[in-house]
Amino acid sequence: MTNYFNVINPATGEFIQEVKIDSEEEIIQAIKKGHESFKTWSKINAHERSRLIKKWSEKVTENKQEIAEIMTKENGKPLSESLGEVDYSVSYLDWYAEEAKRIYGRTIPANTESKRITVTKEPIGLVAAITPWNFPAAMMARKAAPALAAGCTFIVKPATETPLTGMKFIDLAHEAGIPKDAIQYVNGRGSLIGDIFTNSKYIRKITFTGSTPVGKELIKNSADTMKHVTMELGGHAPLIVAEDADLDYAAKQTVGTKFRNAGQTCVCANRILVHENVVDEFTEKFVAEVKKLNVGNGLEEGTDVGPIINEKGYEKIVEQIKNAKENGAEVMIGDKYDADKEKGYFFIHPTVLKEVTTDMTIMQEETFGPVAPITTFKTLEEAVELANSTPYGLAAYFFTNDYRTGTYLHDHLQFGIIGWNDGGPSAAHAPFGGMKESGLGREGGIEGIEPYLETKYMSIGGF
Ligand code: NAP
Repeated sequence: MTNYFNVINPATGEFIQEVKIDSEEEIIQAIKKGHESFKTWSKINAHERSRLIKKWSEKVTENKQEIAEIMTKENGKPLSESLGEVDYSVSYLDWYAEEAKRIYGRTIPANTESKRITVTKEPIGLVAAITPWNFPAAMMARKAAPALAAGCTFIVKPATETPLTGMKFIDLAHEAGIPKDAIQYVNGRGSLIGDIFTNSKYIRKITFTGSTPVGKELIKNSADTMKHVTMELGGHAPLIVAEDADLDYAAKQTVGTKFRNAGQTCVCANRILVHENVVDEFTEKFVAEVKKLNVGNGLEEGTDVGPIINEKGYEKIVEQIKNAKENGAEVMIGDKYDADKEKGYFFIHPTVLKEVTTDMTIMQEETFGPVAPITTFKTLEEAVELANSTPYGLAAYFFTNDYRTGTYLHDHLQFGIIGWNDGGPSAAHAPFGGMKESGLGREGGIEGIEPYLETKYMSIGGF
C-alpha cells in the first residue's frame, strides 16, 4: 500500500498537496542508483559539470516566481523573502559551478632526486543530505551544488513540512540535463530515512542542516561506516550594541536579523546585549521599528512576518515568553497571538522583552520565533562573557564604530560567523558554519567544496 503525507499551508492550515512516502526498499534502490551513477558522473570533466550546474541555475531563475510561491505556501515566509531565497540559492549554484573548475592538486618537492610527489583531489562518492523547513531551497542548494561540482552524486531528504520546494528544484536539475540518478530526492520521516542513510555502505558522506540533537545522532550513527559529516546545527546568536553604536542603524539591522522568517533562522539574534547607558534609547528606537511590521499570510502584499511553522514550534515560543514574564521580564511590544489549533495556524506578533536575565529559558534555549530578549552589560568583558555563555557558536553580531571595540569583540567571540555592523552576513562566497555545538564544517566559499573531496597523494620513485 502506498502511503502519503500532507503538506499544509502554515498560514491557513489548508491542505496544499499530498506527497508519497518512499518505502525502505525504494530508498535503498535510490541509494544504489546514486552509487552506480557516481561511476559516470565523477568522470565527466569539470567544465561540463560546471556547464550543467550553470544551466540548472538558469532554469531555477526562469522559474523563480513559481518556486517562491510554492515556498511561501508551504513554509509561510513572506513572498519577498521567498524570492530572495531563490536568488540566494542561485548564488550557490553559480558559485559552485565556477568552483568545479578550480579543484586543484599540487606537487611537493621530494627530498631525493629519484622521486616525484603529487597530490590530487577526488570526489568522495555518494552524498546524502537531510534539510530543514526554514530555508527549503537554500539549505539544499548549498549542499547539492558543491557535491555535484566536486563530482559526487547526491540524494536529499527534505523536511516533511516543506518538501515541495526541494522537489521542484531537483526536477529543474534534471530538466537542465543533470542525470536523474546523479541528483535525487526521497520523502518520508527523518528518523527512518536517517537510519537508512547512515547504515548504507554506499553513502560516503552525510550533510545535515537541522537541530543539534539530531545532528549528534547522525554523527554517532555514521561512525560504523566511517562517513564524512558536515553539520549545520542550532544557534543562539548574541547581538551586542556598544555604547558608541549608531543606534538608528543598529535598531533597523536588528529588526532584519531578528524577524526575518518570523525569527525561525539559526542565525537570528537570540540574546540582545545592550550597553546600560544606551539601552533605553536603543529599545525605544527598536520598538518603533518593530511596530511597523505587519503580521499575516506571506502571499499577501505588505506582510513582513508570517506564521510559526507548526504547533510544536508555537508552544515552545509561547512557553519561553511566559517563563520570561514570570521571572520579571517586561513586555515592550507584542506578546500577542493569533492561533487556531483546529484549523492549524499559529501566528505570534513580534515581541520585545526587556529586563531579561540569564536564568530565563529564552536565554538558554534556541527560540526559533519572533521574540527579541534584551539585557544589558557594563563592560566589554562582561558582554563577551554573556555572549559566549551558550553551548552554541554559530553567528554573533555587534554594532560599534570604534575599531578597538570591534577588534576586541571579533577576537573574543567564539562564533563561526561575525556580523560587525552587519545584520545579514550570509553569502555564497563566504564560509557559513558554527563552532561548539553549532556544527562541524563550513558551507559556502572556497571551504564549502572541500568536504566533498578526498585527498590522494602519490609518490613516484625510480627516476
Ligand atoms: P530537525 O528536527 O532537526 O529537522 C531537520 C531535518 O532533519 C528534517 O528534514 C527532519 O525530517 C530531519 N530529522 C528529524 N529527526 C531526524 C532523525 N532522527 N534522523 C535524521 N533526520 C531527522 O530541525 P527543525 O526543527 O526542522 O529545524 C530547525 C533547526 O535547524 C534549528 O535548530 C536550527 O537552528 C537548525 N538550522 C540550522 C541551520 C544552520 O545552517 N546551522 C540552518 C537552518 C536551521 P522530518 O521533517 O521528517 O522530521
